[in-house]
Amino acid sequence: MVSSVPSSLSAQERAHLVQAVKDWAAANGLAIRPPPSIASQDVDPAGALAIHAPVTLFPSRFPRKCYNQAQSVQESYNELYARISSDEEFLSGLVSELADVDDFVAGLWKVHEKVKAEGYTQDLSLGLFRSDYMVHEHDSDLHVKQVEFNTIASSFGGLSAQTALLHRYLAETEYPLLQQGWKELDVPKSESVEVLARGIEAAFREYVRASNAPEGTVQRPRCVLFITQTGERNIFDQRHLEYQVEKSDPRIPVFRLPFAEVLEHTRVVEGAKRELIYTLPWSREWPQPSEYEVAVVYYRAGYGPGDYPTEEAWQARYQIERASAIKCPTILTQLAGMKKVQQVLATPEDVGGSSIHGRFITGLPDVSSLMGTFTNIYPMDTSPAGLEARKKATDAVLCQDYVLKPQREGGGNNIYRSAIPDFLKSIPETHWGSYILMELITPPPAENIILRNGQLEEGGIISELGIYGTCLWNKEKVLHNEGGGYLLRTKGDKSEEGGVAAGFGCMDSVRLVD
Ligand code: ADP
Ligand code: MG
Repeated sequence: MVSSVPSSLSAQERAHLVQAVKDWAAANGLAIRPPPSIASQDVDPAGALAIHAPVTLFPSRFPRKCYNQAQSVQESYNELYARISSDEEFLSGLVSELADVDDFVAGLWKVHEKVKAEGYTQDLSLGLFRSDYMVHEHDSDLHVKQVEFNTIASSFGGLSAQTALLHRYLAETEYPLLQQGWKELDVPKSESVEVLARGIEAAFREYVRASNAPEGTVQRPRCVLFITQTGERNIFDQRHLEYQVEKSDPRIPVFRLPFAEVLEHTRVVEGAKRELIYTLPWSREWPQPSEYEVAVVYYRAGYGPGDYPTEEAWQARYQIERASAIKCPTILTQLAGMKKVQQVLATPEDVGGSSIHGRFITGLPDVSSLMGTFTNIYPMDTSPAGLEARKKATDAVLCQDYVLKPQREGGGNNIYRSAIPDFLKSIPETHWGSYILMELITPPPAENIILRNGQLEEGGIISELGIYGTCLWNKEKVLHNEGGGYLLRTKGDKSEEGGVAAGFGCMDSVRLVD
């Protein structure tokens, strides 16, 4: 067991550290809106309360070699997913295998096809990505293996940067004073906010450069629009990014608009360009509406079926997709993040053998290191590999090493280990092909203390490292590609899922060890 906690931590030391963390978190925005179990609507009708984000008392030990491996492949991953997003034929093939049983994927594809029929008016795409890993022990050597690659609403850039600062602060001020004190801990800063903001800024500047209105026509100010979920509790994470984008010189205006209000407050100027116009909700009537031309749309919503309860929501997605604003992401880029894509990259024989790698991976920098992060993922269709996987998934013993995943984002959708056979029995066999079967990555046992809602939880943990990357591209070239920053998310080792906002996981930082 690798513990990141000093062996002789007294009750008094704990209490002191808890106070230090709570205060630092409030003072520096390492915060979320409280869950209803902590502050219900009655307690906080004005929605004025915030609480520290769940966080570890100590940064978790993490092998330096693994951290470096994950950082070193990020720019390759960015480019890989830019290539996949640009290959409509490839994505179309995968979607057609899934669309019969997956209404959400089918719905997204329908919007894409409708826009394609009238012609996209923006050829640039922006990706704010996060590649997630766990440390895997193989032949007593440690490597990072990819859990998933996020292409939409990659979160925690803001809070992860603050968490690294918190742990660095504690390493300077508090840990050296403990009985079993530590003088120097190697906790890297996380540049995630800067990296993500630079991606948005690159897209914004490119939009402005490419689209100055002819003389004599109205030139509205340009803005970035964050599309948000109503009632979002992880709001300060988003705010950190927003404030960073707004800091750029000259200033870039950023507005937040709930996905459910897109049709009310935006419109498209019909014409060759199809500008997306955002009207400030509070100044519609007089003296004239304050209108902005949206240069970049950044989605922190729209990634799951829950965001599309009505036909209007699909209409809103269509309105943005057909407009000239640079989308982060486009529908094609969102679909490139399907677990099915990750599976096809990991088990390529099923769709034409090496050609998949030839199509996407050849020519990327550091190919062998990139492919070293792949783990075993199988289709659940009726191909030979799929039939093999079905045997594992339906076997009471073999299924223990696997997780079954649908094409969904945002946590809470996966089926683990012994629950897999019964789950498969509960759905029609014709639906099995819309899932993928992934080998569970098993990090070496570790321990830490989590501070959640002011209470401590101590014990075995599992950590997941996320590396951020941004990319701006069109079919011909990549205009911006940067990797960097990190998130360490830690959960109790009894929990399968690791969502921080959902209440399973917590924020953490890496303490690099050799
Ligand atoms: P989502 O899109 O819902 O975030 P993920 O693929 O990231 O889906 O899975 C959710 C969580 O499940 C992960 O954060 C991780 O804790 C756990 N998980 C997923 N795949 C694996 C795996 N192969 N091995 C171990 N844990 C996994
Ligand atoms: Mg995930």
